[in-house]
Amino acid sequence: MFKTIETLIENKKESYFTLSDRIWDIAETKFHERESAKTIMAVLKEEGFSIETNIADIDTAFIATYGSKGPVIGFLGEYDALPELNQKSGVTKKETDPSFGTTNGHGCGHNLLGTASLAAAIATRDYLKEQNIDAQIRYYGCPAEEGGSGKTYMARAHAFDDLDMAICWHPGTDNAIIGSPTLANIQAVFEFKGKSSHAANSPDMGRSALDAMELMNVGANYLREHVTSEARYHYAVLDGGGMQPSVVQAHSKVLYLIRAPKGYQVKEIYDRICKVAEGAALMTETQMTVHFDKACSNYMPNKVYSKLMAECMSKVGAPQFDDTDIAFAKELHASLSEEDKKFMMVPPVTPIEKQVLAANQGKVLADYIYPYNEAH
Ligand SMILES: [Zn+2]
Repeated sequence: MFKTIETLIENKKESYFTLSDRIWDIAETKFHERESAKTIMAVLKEEGFSIETNIADIDTAFIATYGSKGPVIGFLGEYDALPELNQKSGVTKKETDPSFGTTNGHGCGHNLLGTASLAAAIATRDYLKEQNIDAQIRYYGCPAEEGGSGKTYMARAHAFDDLDMAICWHPGTDNAIIGSPTLANIQAVFEFKGKSSHAANSPDMGRSALDAMELMNVGANYLREHVTSEARYHYAVLDGGGMQPSVVQAHSKVLYLIRAPKGYQVKEIYDRICKVAEGAALMTETQMTVHFDKACSNYMPNKVYSKLMAECMSKVGAPQFDDTDIAFAKELHASLSEEDKKFMMVPPVTPIEKQVLAANQGKVLADYIYPYNEAH
């Protein structure tokens, strides 16, 4: 079976390379992946999939389906880029490519993610067809996975309800099954509106939105002591009110990203941070509005499928690299600090993991498979 699937993918690999390179060049960020989605849809259409667009009212979300009988198997594809990460391909140092016409770039490898999920969907369809096995194969075009949680809107629109299983992957430095949960999170913008005045002549006339935001952040930082120690929350100032200290700032905006192991814990912290923001508005006589941005549940791994995937992965084997690949990776490695390199590896826990890591010490490309561990 593995040999047949490998051949099915090999036969179409050139078109997959072209697709991945094209997505790399287009480099569109969250909810703007119009050309990327169109390019992927064109390949699926060519392969005989029928396409449903505008899923959950998002014009870059789509579902491509093949077949109508049997179990429903979903492959999740992502194709969004990140701002400020424009990078010339084939170059081992930071170098922008003006031909992109944008500062966006694929730092997270979603050009590969979206393409390989598509390759898997097509190969599975081809294999099952060859074997005369009925199944409905679906490719989910999932937008905005970089800070937009596109799949949550699709889930709310019931796009995944009738799936029997869903498979996804992410490019990384290791060949491993991700069997561990992730943190749940909520993201929201807190906006304050005050009253402008001259800060020296008539400070008593002003109500500072900047003060409100600062007081909110101070309050939120005090709150850290009284939430679960596994919680993480951070903020970014989107609007400090202006460039003039001689003006009482009339507007401000701060973006909060709150994370915790479970959804209910995030919700509790979010509700308390909202109270802190209300308190800051009360203290400064400003108006506060919460703009809820997004929320994600914690990822719940499917241990049965994870184990099965690990078994399949060990049968297929790790990718092998030639001298050119290794030389290129060595150059990339040279640009990293020791600290960076440490974070590239999944930290070993069990004796077998330690053994595998020790046996492959110093390699710049992982041509081995990391042993499956439910804790990772
Ligand atoms: Zn990613």
